[in-house]
Amino acid sequence: MEARPSNDSLMRSTLSKGLHAPAPFGQNVLDPPTPNDLIVCSVKGCISKPFKRQAELNRHMKKHEGKTDYPCLAVGCKRTGTQAFTRPDKLKAHVIAGHHDDDLFKCYKPDCSVELPRGVFALHYSDWNNGPIGDVFYSLREMRKCPIPKCTFWLIRTYWSQSEQYGLEDLQAHLLEKHDARGRANFAGLLRQAGYDSITAEVMCPICPTNNRFARHEDFYAHYFLQHFHGPICDDHSDASCPDTCQGREDYWRLTHSSSIPEEVRQHRRTILSIWPAFPRSSVWNDVRCQSKQE
Ligand SMILES: [Zn+2]
Ligand SMILES: [Zn+2]
Ligand SMILES: [Zn+2]
Ligand SMILES: [Zn+2]
Ligand SMILES: [Zn+2]
Ligand SMILES: [Zn+2]
Repeated sequence: MEARPSNDSLMRSTLSKGLHAPAPFGQNVLDPPTPNDLIVCSVKGCISKPFKRQAELNRHMKKHEGKTDYPCLAVGCKRTGTQAFTRPDKLKAHVIAGHHDDDLFKCYKPDCSVELPRGVFALHYSDWNNGPIGDVFYSLREMRKCPIPKCTFWLIRTYWSQSEQYGLEDLQAHLLEKHDARGRANFAGLLRQAGYDSITAEVMCPICPTNNRFARHEDFYAHYFLQHFHGPICDDHSDASCPDTCQGREDYWRLTHSSSIPEEVRQHRRTILSIWPAFPRSSVWNDVRCQSKQE
């Protein structure tokens, strides 16, 4: 079982990462749940997030019934069949360390033949209807690798590192502390592709040519809704008739429901994905979701 955060580290991360920050994202920013509120799966090697309700854990435990093999789904990878992993955390570590962002992964469901690069494949499964293998890949949504080649630093956002919006600051800090200015400059293009400025490690909007640097990720999220959300306030009402109380006014709802996504957002969606942990929920990704009817 993974080490749980001490109360002390929870406090620190809560304080430094948002308790006093303005809510950047409509009404939907949840406070990080405290460990006491959460029910953790105790199965060895399980990578599931903690659950808020016992019923969720019960449903989850069904996935541990019987013996599951955890094959790597990378196209051409040997860790499948008799070489498959027996634990989800081992598969996850392999997928992170043994593969690259551009390696293709293939859905394991017989009625789905989708192949996608690693980062995008994490969006293929939903959080409620994938089996134990899908869970491993779903959990890769929380992973970020340092964009500089050969650097082995990667982080996994954890549930106490804040809600959907936070937890990537450590990557910015890493870029500034572990890579010098020249090292960053050499890979300016890759950093930019990942959404970061090579000089300051600030977040860069991939769409805007100028005035597009933001010290904090959440400032970029606000900018996105201001500058790059061209749709109506919501899909149900025109701007004029949408009442104040309509949920379609909430940023989170707009992100998940809007069908009017500008082409410029679509074009840069992988960069936006890199700098925005909630972006997997955007409807811009609908085309990569698993359509399989099987569990
Ligand atoms: Zn479990
Ligand atoms: Zn593999
Ligand atoms: Zn690095
Ligand atoms: Zn922009
Ligand atoms: Zn409305
Ligand atoms: Zn699929």
